[in-house]
Amino acid sequence: MLPTREDANPAAPAVGEAAQVDVAVIGAGLSGLVCALRLQQAGLDSVAVFEAKDRVGGRTLNQPIAGRHGAGRHIVEGGGQWVGPGQDRVLALADELGVETYPSWDQGQDVMVLQGRRRTYHACMPFPFVRPALDFMQAALRLQFAAWGVDRDRPWTAGAARRLDSTTLQDWLNHHVRTDSARTMFDIASGLALGGDPRDLSLLGVLQHIRSAGGLHKLLSIRGGAQERRLAGGAQGLSLKLAARLGTRVHLDSPVDSLRWTPHGALVHAGGRAWSARCVVVAMSPVDRACIRFEPGLPPAQAQLGRRMQMFKGIKVHAVYARPFWRDLGLSGQALGDEGPAPATFDNSPPDGTVGVLTAFVAGKTSYKAVAPTQAQLDDPALRREGVLDCLVRYFGEEARTPIDYIEQDWRSESHTAGCIPTMPPGVLTELGPQLTETTGPLVWAGTESSHVWNGYMDGAVRSGERAAELAAGICRAAATSSQPR
Ligand SMILES: Cc1cc2nc3c(=O)[nH]c(=O)nc-3n(C[C@H](O)[C@H](O)[C@H](O)COP(=O)(O)OP(=O)(O)OC[C@H]3O[C@@H](n4cnc5c(N)ncnc54)[C@H](O)[C@@H]3O)c2cc1C
Repeated sequence: MLPTREDANPAAPAVGEAAQVDVAVIGAGLSGLVCALRLQQAGLDSVAVFEAKDRVGGRTLNQPIAGRHGAGRHIVEGGGQWVGPGQDRVLALADELGVETYPSWDQGQDVMVLQGRRRTYHACMPFPFVRPALDFMQAALRLQFAAWGVDRDRPWTAGAARRLDSTTLQDWLNHHVRTDSARTMFDIASGLALGGDPRDLSLLGVLQHIRSAGGLHKLLSIRGGAQERRLAGGAQGLSLKLAARLGTRVHLDSPVDSLRWTPHGALVHAGGRAWSARCVVVAMSPVDRACIRFEPGLPPAQAQLGRRMQMFKGIKVHAVYARPFWRDLGLSGQALGDEGPAPATFDNSPPDGTVGVLTAFVAGKTSYKAVAPTQAQLDDPALRREGVLDCLVRYFGEEARTPIDYIEQDWRSESHTAGCIPTMPPGVLTELGPQLTETTGPLVWAGTESSHVWNGYMDGAVRSGERAAELAAGICRAAATSSQPR
């Protein structure tokens, strides 16, 4: 049994009536829950996880399909969903928890609509319009080649780091992409897989992201890429299973509003109650930490990281049909188009194909050039739905106009979650990169944004949770050793 905080160090914050734990984990997303489980498995059982929402899973969320077609049987995923090769830690976790994976639907022809012209093509081609296709491929290869010059774990050490970090992806595209259509394709790819609008992204951050995934094609592809497989029962199932293993250690509806810390411990206020801990794992994006009042304030560089990093916000939508009718037309359900608000779609039907689901992403801002929603579509869900269905009709025909269910998850309005995926603006990595992982006294940073590998993905979340558990265990063991009688 570890000694109490006061025994361990007289300079720890006064605990008064506080409950005591060795490790307080803030955030019951994938990273926080994995961290708590690994601590428990390492023999550190005195752990409490505090979650602001009334559910676990953070940026993963299962949403039931309504009506007789879906009732009780099928779900769609409002947040993270795909896993793929190289995402070894999330795949190992799924295996450990008994969650099976199955291949994403990837049969049939893809659709592309550019400047009003619709073409179908096989996915092994980059796309069917020759000039923009060559332009896109050439630029993608250049980007990939440049990524290999960047250190995956410490990108700020690259010889040209400062220059690359003061440039945006858009600047780079302006120099290296000639056709409007290829630029639009990069715009779409950037929102889906690179962190948002190319004008907001540091080129260094994009290159590090590509490097860590093992290539741009891995980020963008289904077969052999990050979209290759899905988790049976939905991605939130991982967190639900983790929470079941952790039992009463997980406290829902318990937002942490303040955290008082010294080098030797912390006092956490969660859901109206105080908890004293040797070590606190903060398991969320740096941007989300803004809801917590740290006393004393965080070191300036650490505080700046939370202020300067951004999150790309968006809306994930699912149109549900009685059957995946596009498959009868020989189509895969994957489409790309140069008109918003739904510039890309995927077949997200359940594995038995008993209902058909087309999934699209709507950007949360209007300035995203051709593929953006209008302000009216952002403000009014009915107009947004109309706009999304118009896109689906352009891709798959009139049958797409009348889904039996239509489900949205609007991440712009989710409390305690600043957005979907991290946006690394210029200048942040070279000035503040090490802060993503550097421990501050008893405070350990987790969350997918702190992973150098598959940053922004569920795999990055799992890696960050495992890393944080090792650090937290080390802090607790050091405290216990220093309090042993000599
Ligand atoms: C639309 C969308 C699509 C995505 N697609 C994919 C995909 O296909 N594949 C993939 O791998 N990844 C995908 N992702 C990303 C993936 O979901 C995330 O990387 C991952 O879930 C992040 O886990 P996390 O634990 O790091 O953070 P989070 O899930 O954000 O967890 C942080 C938790 O902290 C809680 N919290 C915040 N503040 C406080 C506070 N003050 N007190 C207590 N609790 C607090 C939050 O409520 C949240 O539950 C997607 C995300 C979105 C939104």
